[in-house]
Amino acid sequence: MQRILNFINGEYIEPISKQYLKGFNPALGMVYSEVPDSDERDVELAVSASKEALAKWGSTTQEQRSEVLLRIANGIEARMEEFALAETNDQGKPLWLSKAMDIPRAVSNLKFYANAALHLNGEFHQTDQHIFNYTLRSPIGVVGCISPWNLPLYLFTWKIAPALAMGNCVIAKPSEITPMTASMLGEVCNAAGLPKGVLNIIHGLGAKVGSAMTKHFDIKAISFTGGTKTGAEISRVAAPMFKKMSLELGGKNPNLIFDDCNFEKTVKISVAAAFTNQGEICLCGSRIFIQDTIYEKFKSAFMEEVKKRTVGDPLNDSSKLGAIASKEHFEKILSYIALAKQEGGEIILGGGAVMVEGRCRQGWFIAPTIIEGLSYDCRINQEEIFGPVVTLVPFTTEAEVIMMANSTPFGLASTIFTENLSRAHRVAAKMESGIVWINCWLERDLRTPFGGVKQSGVGREGGFEALKFFTEEKNVCVKI
Ligand code: NAD
Repeated sequence: MQRILNFINGEYIEPISKQYLKGFNPALGMVYSEVPDSDERDVELAVSASKEALAKWGSTTQEQRSEVLLRIANGIEARMEEFALAETNDQGKPLWLSKAMDIPRAVSNLKFYANAALHLNGEFHQTDQHIFNYTLRSPIGVVGCISPWNLPLYLFTWKIAPALAMGNCVIAKPSEITPMTASMLGEVCNAAGLPKGVLNIIHGLGAKVGSAMTKHFDIKAISFTGGTKTGAEISRVAAPMFKKMSLELGGKNPNLIFDDCNFEKTVKISVAAAFTNQGEICLCGSRIFIQDTIYEKFKSAFMEEVKKRTVGDPLNDSSKLGAIASKEHFEKILSYIALAKQEGGEIILGGGAVMVEGRCRQGWFIAPTIIEGLSYDCRINQEEIFGPVVTLVPFTTEAEVIMMANSTPFGLASTIFTENLSRAHRVAAKMESGIVWINCWLERDLRTPFGGVKQSGVGREGGFEALKFFTEEKNVCVKI
């Protein structure tokens, strides 16, 4: 049994309550770790440590902070195998995916912000020859970063890297479902020479730790990634306190397939967009709209390709889908599959739990599931399932598919497949989403603004947006 500890003021310490939650390996369906059941007292300790560290960290030069971040990145990279295995054991995703995507991206996040921060310029505005304005940017102070379980270290570092780069001290809370890699990060930070108290990592439940962070007067900003309902709760508490907030929330992303697409490429990318990470990526394309002229052809090619995606032990290279991250989420996905049947959908592939032989007999696995025959506005096509479940919906005209694609309360990402350049740009401009991919999916350039519209969030991460978020701006006006 691995006992995880909080990382406060550069030291690993027990939660004040001395209570622990059960941490599961989802592929085994078994408890394998103890996760601190922290509360507001641990948050208070971390805030004190952060406040103490603030003056020193905030007055380091940009170059010094960048160098520390680069050393943290290199420290993770040097332990790539160990981090990848920890991520897989905690989250359930295939080990090859942790090695190819999650941990390398965590390294890239740190390297990217270490470098980007060196290039963030202030602004200068000249009114006439006697008056000019310039902008000063200073760290906000102590900030809170709260992240989810689907891409644990990937999203954790995506927040803390820009916050630290701009000179803030951070109280960070990973998901209680996947705390392992975040807990390992403390060792790397100490070895990299990050001063004590600059990054504090507190484990525990959202309702205790997350909520104590949101309420804390001295935590001046909250950067949150997670569900829309939680985002609303955080806003309810933080908005009247005038905290800065960045909210990256849920999605129900449409994938628009026109009959003039590059067919083979479209099938392959659509399968990846649907089932990578067991469909547990906020950007997954789970509503697949297909022009009726190629509906049947696409359906059979798509099904053939999905059948090749083996569900299995995450430690096997042949497993394309691993386990679902928690039992609760496993049951939620199955309940949506049951609802799809009630709503009149036909399950044309998958449709239930998968029993994986060997050490994973008790794990939480679900077959990639394809459903057809549902209307665009039923619950299955409107609510976020966040699992390996997609629907196929035919359409006739461009106007019709735009209407259906935009019909949900979410607006995170859209994917369009067409070889017609005019159509690609015309439809992209009409998508109610923060991101549009044309003939590709999950191509990420870390300089681009990342985020959603409608109930998918407020604000943007990525590039200079996140660096600016973690600063306060001051306009200085000079009259000569
Ligand atoms: P969640 O909202 O349940 O939890 C996210 C984090 O918030 C966890 O650390 C949790 O402990 C904490 N939390 C829970 N209640 C809280 C509260 N009252 N106050 C403060 N913190 C609280 O989300 P999840 O189930 O971990 O993640 C899945 C969701 O995240 C999906 O909806 C998915 O779409 C979304 N997501 C969005 C993005 C994006 O970039 N937009 C990326 C990944 C995941």
